[in-house]
Formats: sequence, C-alpha cells, structure tokens
Amino acid sequence: MDKLAIVVPCYNEEEVLHIATEALVGVLDDLASKGKIAKESFILFVNDGSKDRTWELIEEEHKAHPIQVRGVKLAGNVGHQYALTAGLITAKDMCDVTVSIDADLQDDVAVIEEMIDKFHAGNDIVYGVRKERKTDTFFKRTTAQGFYKLMDKMGVKTVYNHADFRLMSRRAVEEFSKYEETNLFLRGMVPLIGYQTDCVYYDRKERVAGESKYPLKKMLALAFNGISSFSVKPISMILGLGIAIVIISILAAIYAFISYFTGHVVQGWTSLILSIWFFGGLQLLAIGLVGQYIGKIYMEVKHRPRYNIEKILSTEDDKED
Ligand code: UDP
Ligand code: MG
Repeated sequence: MDKLAIVVPCYNEEEVLHIATEALVGVLDDLASKGKIAKESFILFVNDGSKDRTWELIEEEHKAHPIQVRGVKLAGNVGHQYALTAGLITAKDMCDVTVSIDADLQDDVAVIEEMIDKFHAGNDIVYGVRKERKTDTFFKRTTAQGFYKLMDKMGVKTVYNHADFRLMSRRAVEEFSKYEETNLFLRGMVPLIGYQTDCVYYDRKERVAGESKYPLKKMLALAFNGISSFSVKPISMILGLGIAIVIISILAAIYAFISYFTGHVVQGWTSLILSIWFFGGLQLLAIGLVGQYIGKIYMEVKHRPRYNIEKILSTEDDKED
C-alpha cells in the first residue's frame, strides 16, 4: 500500500492550522479506509519561520495525532517555494507519494482522492487545476491570468491555472531534488521532470481564515523570478531590437542622403542623424550579443539534469523493480 505525505507550507497560519489538520486528517482516514493509501500516511507541516503560534500548534496537533501529523521547523522565513521544497525533499524519504497543498484550504481537499486514483493509474505527477477564479478578486484574477500568458510568451512551460497543489510520486520528487538551482519556481521546474502526468480540476475557494501571505510585492517577485529563472528571451529581445534599429538606420541613411542631395537640410544634420541611429542600434546589438553569452552562462550554472531516464530495455537485465 502506498504511503502518502501531504506537504503543507505554513507561514503565520495560526487561524487555519487546526481547521486544516481536521480536514486533512479526514482525507487521510477516508482514503485509508477505502484501501487507497497506507494507514501510516501523514501530513507534513513545514513551519516557514512563522512569527505567531503556528509551530506550537503544529506540536499540539502532532501530540493529538502522533502518526498522522508531522512537522518540520525551518530556522527562519525562506518563502513559500523554498518551504515547499524543504517539505517535499524531507517527505520523499518517508513516503511513496506526496501531495502539496496550501494551509488555507483554498484548494479543494476532496480532489486528493482523484489525484491518488490517477497516481495508481500510472501518473507520476498530477496537477491540480482551477476551473474558475470566481472567488479571487478581479485584481488577483486579471494579474494572475496575465502572468500565465506572459510566461507562455516567454517560452516558460507551465500548466495554465495550476498553482502548487499537485501530486508527485517519490521518484518525481527524487528527480526534482536533482535540480540544484537557487532561484526556485516550482511551477516551471516540475514540467521539466517529464514522466506521465495528468490534471484534476477543482473550484478554488476563499481562504478559510486569516489573510493572504502573498501581497502584491511577493507576487511580482514570484512572477519576475519565474521568467528570469527559465527564460533568456528578454536578452534575445534586446538583440532583436538592436538588429531592427541597425536596419532602420540604413533606411534613415538613404533618406538622409536623399535629403542632403536635394539640398534642403541644415548643415550637419545628415551626419548627426546617421550617427544617432547607427550607434544606438550598434550599442543595443552589442549588448544583446554579450547578453546571449551571459544567458548561456546562466543556464549552465544552474546545473540542471540534462535528461531523466524513465526505463531501459536491455537483454542483460530484464528485471524490473
Ligand atoms: N507561505 C509560506 N511562506 C511565506 C508565505 C506563504 O510558507 O513566506 C505559505 C502560506 O502559509 C500558505 C501558502 O504559502 O500555506 C500560500 O500562501 P497564501 O495562501 O497566503 O497565498 P495566496 O493563496 O493568497 O496566493
Ligand atoms: Mg491562499
């Protein structure tokens, strides 16, 4: 029977911790009684340096449910993406499959069952995808959707309307742990792993209590990090712009020479206008070119795994574990 670990990053979540525990323990009991997961399955709360009583509450819940509630206490606040990574990597040695979910229960815990079913059907990663964003404010909805579109334009592969509510098998987390980069953007990294994947759909609800720990500033930082960690397209855009301006400068040269020879120009205008266009374009082109090398260096220093072998067919060793 597969042992499930539900990984929950928590930052100042004292208002929701108990409600979240009850809901998730309920899910564990239900799935265990249906024989879909092992009885030793558990919730792993990751306290991300909370300033309130979150950690004390996690300890209390652990006393009340010694097997089903476990906790990791990070030494300080490192942010959602890092807290979640810490939880997943800690959990992978204690379980067969993980599900990550936010503490505020905005994501529907009822679809965890469907995720497990899809895992048993052979999927290593199952994405939780929001059907609609009715409960989000207009502002959050439009900014978030604009963000997904922009990511797509920049060539970052993400799953539309999927945040960090997802199932990952142990081997998927194992593979993920080989991504040693410091700037984490999980939604972009997980699709790089490969394996068979699927989605489950749900309606996103309101936070059960407390308020968002993702103010606009953190959201923008996440968006910028997402693009800058996955794409060197902005650099290519500079190069493209440089090339375009050099071409325009050639057209401007033709125009300037025609004006010069028809004689209706102020002294010095021709040379002035030509140097402005030409050198402007040349500079952008040069910056873009240097940028291309920096982009390559950037991708190299990430030391990402270059491939992930799923299976080998060979005559020598036909055993499968
Ligand atoms: N979170 C975290 N560290 C942080 C900020 C948030 O671990 O620095 C957790 C938070 O406790 C919650 C999840 O990340 O479980 C998502 O945060 P939130 O619900 O506030 O974001 P929103 O749903 O508003 O985007
Ligand atoms: Mg939330």
